[in-house]
Amino acid sequence: MEEIHDIVIVGGGISGLATALALQRKGIKSIVLERHETLRSSGAAIGMFINGWRALDELGVGRRLREKSLALMEIQDVWIHKDVSRVTPCRKEGLRCLRRSDLIDALASSLPAECIRVGCQVVRIEPDPLTLFPTLYTREGEIIKAKVLIGCDGWNSVVAKCLGLAEPKTLRNLVIRGVTEFSKGHQFGDSFVRQFDDKMLFGMIPIDHQIIHWFVDWLPTSTDMETSTRNPDMIKELATAKLRNHPPETLEMVRNGEPDSLSLARIRYRSPWDLLLSDAFHRSTTCLTGDAMHVMGPFLGQGGAAALEDAVVLSRNLAMALRKGEEDDGEVTVLSDEEIKRRVGLGMGEYVRERRRRIALLGLQSYLMDLIYSGSNVYKLVGLVVLMVFFRGEMLKHTEYDCGRL
Ligand SMILES: Cc1cc2nc3c(=O)[nH]c(=O)nc-3n(C[C@H](O)[C@H](O)[C@H](O)COP(=O)(O)OP(=O)(O)OC[C@H]3O[C@@H](n4cnc5c(N)ncnc54)[C@H](O)[C@@H]3O)c2cc1C
Repeated sequence: MEEIHDIVIVGGGISGLATALALQRKGIKSIVLERHETLRSSGAAIGMFINGWRALDELGVGRRLREKSLALMEIQDVWIHKDVSRVTPCRKEGLRCLRRSDLIDALASSLPAECIRVGCQVVRIEPDPLTLFPTLYTREGEIIKAKVLIGCDGWNSVVAKCLGLAEPKTLRNLVIRGVTEFSKGHQFGDSFVRQFDDKMLFGMIPIDHQIIHWFVDWLPTSTDMETSTRNPDMIKELATAKLRNHPPETLEMVRNGEPDSLSLARIRYRSPWDLLLSDAFHRSTTCLTGDAMHVMGPFLGQGGAAALEDAVVLSRNLAMALRKGEEDDGEVTVLSDEEIKRRVGLGMGEYVRERRRRIALLGLQSYLMDLIYSGSNVYKLVGLVVLMVFFRGEMLKHTEYDCGRL
């Protein structure tokens, strides 16, 4: 079986669906290939700062998603072992937390059904010997020819490998994430609370007045290192063991976590210097977005928002490059293969140029936060100094970024 498509997007997560939707809003059709039988996004929920909401508004789904989440007023940081705390007010509408399933549903339901193909795992990509456009081979035996290929397939991206990008690195941290519903309402108000303990971070962020997203991030011991499970009971057991010094209400919340929402994950990242210097984010008519390009630690809560920004910036540049000249004569011209390569190459090159500084700075800030949080005293000091030099202590400055109009 052999098919030909103009634009193929590999991966139906936040990044792939947002890219397909952004392209659609520019009048450009694409097809998303997702390896799982259903669309899903592990990790229960996602914090979304104002920069992410701007991108969601450009995609036309901001309003309906705001209805499903509470505007949060402040971030409370507590260093338990030092008895120190800090409250950072959020700008109006600055931060909300979304169930990942709500985000995926909003993006997917804005696309025509035929734009998404589930149960389709790309296993190999090779250039067509005649045209040099990419040919995709799937586990299910399909051969799909694409003129444009966009890799939105997460940190272990098959498209990134075909572009020659090195594998991302792995942090030592483990993270458990979950969601708990309080049928009579919770008592956590509208604050995002982060409690830092010795080598452990526990966070609670309300999605609405009844639902809390929580996470435990810690540096594992040698026994934890071996833990790799999807069993909800085992995940709860591990989380409650880590939180044994916390109040009984916290333990109760973890025990009541929705089984489907629970996950235990390792953290991957690309180093800031790779993000700044790599020349493998784009080649000819293939490029990357989202975690496939710039997977980063969760310390800023920006990976998903950055993927939404990518979608807007890439689609804007592709649309501009493909339409060049049309405005003059109003005619839609059929482009030759060589002209497609030239125009898409220019559009993708501009996209990478526009995104590089942004993702390198996010990657750097996230990397420094990890150093401060889990490094030795010397690394902590280095991390703090570099953070002060580069970011002048303005820890939420990156959330003000505007990726521009679609
Ligand atoms: C602990 C933690 C907390 C986080 N918190 C936040 C937060 O608060 N805010 C925020 O903005 N971001 C956060 N992030 C980051 C965010 O989750 C990611 O950046 C985001 O999910 C990336 O989306 P993606 O679509 O690029 O990749 P993914 O979500 O990994 O999606 C990739 C998709 O591609 C599919 N796929 C993979 N390979 C293939 C293939 N070969 N063929 C077909 N399909 C394939 C996968 O099945 C998947 O559906 C957090 C991350 C972690 C680990």
